[in-house]
Amino acid sequence: MAGIAGLIWPQRSLITGREVAGPGSLEPELWAKLRFISDPVCARCGTPFEIAVEEAQICGACLAGPPAYDRARAALEYGEVSRDLVLALKYQGRRDALDLLAGWMALAGADLLQDADVIAPVPLHYLRLVRRGFNQSAWLAAALARRGAARLAVDVLKRTRSTPIQGGLSAEGRRRNVQGAFRVRRSREKLVKDQKILLVDDVLTTGATAEACSRALKRAGASCVDVLTLARVAAPRALSI
Ligand SMILES: [Zn+2]
Repeated sequence: MAGIAGLIWPQRSLITGREVAGPGSLEPELWAKLRFISDPVCARCGTPFEIAVEEAQICGACLAGPPAYDRARAALEYGEVSRDLVLALKYQGRRDALDLLAGWMALAGADLLQDADVIAPVPLHYLRLVRRGFNQSAWLAAALARRGAARLAVDVLKRTRSTPIQGGLSAEGRRRNVQGAFRVRRSREKLVKDQKILLVDDVLTTGATAEACSRALKRAGASCVDVLTLARVAAPRALSI
């Protein structure tokens, strides 16, 4: 079937749009530039460690101030190529990328996916959703839900304020920007209480959005909130840009 589909709709590179042969949907030279995150990472925030460490080690930033979520993991370090992958998903709506990307995320967050009761995406504000027509994080969440036993609930969280785009803001600016911007929908409170929630987003930058969502979920009684993203800035908790 894939072969016939390939004849009708030849595979296009997720980044350049050129035709590519075989599975993967990326040119080999771009593949080579992707940086997959592998152990060892901080057991809490998932920041990669430069050197080998004992199992379940926590980074200095998490020791100094634990994040609002329990664990965060990501498939890729945020860089030139992973950024283009995120943009292809976000602005070109490349749904054909979902299976591949969710597969990478499921590997990076295998424990999180296995432990989760409910999978929930970071929501867009209603107005932005209407403008774009879709929420790429909800797409990733749905693709992940197909790989595990957890229940998908795309409308658990509500973005109550249309926050300005985060790019260019400092870590502190980002934190203030999303503070109190999320809440659990009253009709979904039962789904959250005493449940382990896996929060899904495309990118983790400073972690401000993930933390704001996690706080809202914990206020609603979630017993655990893990965060799984496609890409992440390597050491967001140590960042001060
Ligand atoms: Zn950490």
